[in-house]
Amino acid sequence: MHPPDADSVLVRHGELGVKSDQVRRKMEDQLADNIRAMLDARALSGDIEQRRNRLFVHTDQPEDVTAAAADTFGVTSASAVTTVDSTLSAIKDALAVTAREQYDGGTFAVSARRAGPAEAHPFSSTDIESDGGTAVWEAIEELGGEPAVDLDNPDFELFVECRADEAYVFCEKRPGPGGLPLGTQRPVVALVSGGIDSPVAAWKLMKRGTPVLPVYVDLGDYGGPDHRARAVSTIETLASYAPGHDLSLSVIDAGDVVTDLSQNLGSLRMLVLRRFMLAVAEAIAHECDAVGIVTGEAIGQKSSQTSANIAVTDAATTLPVYRPNLTVDKSEITNHARTIGTFDDSTIDTGCNRVAPSHPETNASLEAVRAAEPDDLFERAKVCAQDRAVIPIES
Ligand code: ATP
Ligand code: MG
Repeated sequence: MHPPDADSVLVRHGELGVKSDQVRRKMEDQLADNIRAMLDARALSGDIEQRRNRLFVHTDQPEDVTAAAADTFGVTSASAVTTVDSTLSAIKDALAVTAREQYDGGTFAVSARRAGPAEAHPFSSTDIESDGGTAVWEAIEELGGEPAVDLDNPDFELFVECRADEAYVFCEKRPGPGGLPLGTQRPVVALVSGGIDSPVAAWKLMKRGTPVLPVYVDLGDYGGPDHRARAVSTIETLASYAPGHDLSLSVIDAGDVVTDLSQNLGSLRMLVLRRFMLAVAEAIAHECDAVGIVTGEAIGQKSSQTSANIAVTDAATTLPVYRPNLTVDKSEITNHARTIGTFDDSTIDTGCNRVAPSHPETNASLEAVRAAEPDDLFERAKVCAQDRAVIPIES
C-alpha cells in the first residue's frame, strides 16, 4: 500500500548506524549493491541514492521495489513514499490525497517525525500530526466515511518524515529481515540436507551478512535423486534472497562411505557420518577460504544431536560450527521455513532409506567413537571434497 503518487522507496537499515564511519560506508555500499542486484533479478528499475543512515530508490514501480527491498538482508523496513516540500500545506495535501486513495474504513492515525535544525520549520511534529490529522479527517468525510482517530491501534496509519528540505509521506512500513548486508562477512560452508532445518540455518547466517557455500552430501542408496532435488530446490529459494552472490551447490558422492558405515557400525553410525560431513565441509572451507561451517542442528532434536553427541561431532573439525537453530523448537523452525519459502520443498516425500540405526547412542564418548570409526574416515572426506560436483544455482 502506498500513496498514489509515490516516487521513491525509503529503505531503512538498523545496525549499520552504530558502526564507525569507515565500516558503515562499506556496509552501506554493499547494501546498495545487493538492492541493485535484487532489482535486476526482478527486472525492476530504480535509481539508488545513498544517504546517511538510509537509502532511497527513486522508481516508478514503488510497490514491487518495496517488496524487493524488504527481501534484502540488512533492511529493517521499506516504505513507498511520496516526496513533497517540507511545508505544512504540502504535507497536508499529500496526506489527504493518500487517504482519499487508500482509506478503507475504520480508525486512523497520523504519526510524524521531524528532523533537522529547529529553525528549519516553523512547526513541530505535533503540529504535523494535528493539522495532518484534520486534513485526513476531512478527506474521509468527503469520501462519505465516518472518521475516528485511534492513536494506539489504528486500522489505517499515515506517516510523515519531515527533513530540512523535503518531507516524505507514506502509509506502510514493510518489515525487512534485518541483520547485515550479505557479503559483509567472510563466507562459511553450509551443510544443507534439504530438510526443514538446514536451509533455515543457512538463511540465518546469510541474514547476518555471511555468504554461504552450500554442500549436499549424497548418501547414495540412502538418499536418491529426489532427496538431492529437494536440496537443490531449497538452495534455489535461498539464492532468491542473494542475487549477485554465488550459491552453487557442491554435491559430495558419499554413497560408498555410507554403505561402509552402515555395514560396519552399529549405534554410532550416525555420529561417525556427521563427523565425516564436518570433515568434508572443513576440507571445502579450506579450499574456498571459508571460515566456518553452519548446520541445522538443534539440541536434542535427534539422537545425533544430544548435547553429548554434539560434543563428539564438533571434535571432528577445528573450524567453528555455527548452529543458529540450536535452541529453537522444531515448530518455530518450521514456521520460519514457511516464512522464508523453503518449507514446501523441504517436505517433498523423497522415500529415502533410513541411515540411522534403530537404537542409536545418545551419550557417546569421543574415545569410543574414535575407536569405532574407520582409520581413513578423514582421508576419505578430503578425497570426496576434492571430487565434488558443482551444480550452478540460478538466483
Ligand atoms: P534438516 O536438519 O535440514 O531438517 P535432517 O533433519 O534430515 O535435515 P539431521 O539429521 O537433523 O538432518 O541432520 C543434522 C544436520 O546435518 C542438518 O541440519 C544438516 O546441516 C546436516 N546434514 C544432514 N544430512 C545432510 C546431507 N545429506 N547433506 C548435507 N548436510 C546434511
Ligand atoms: Mg534436523
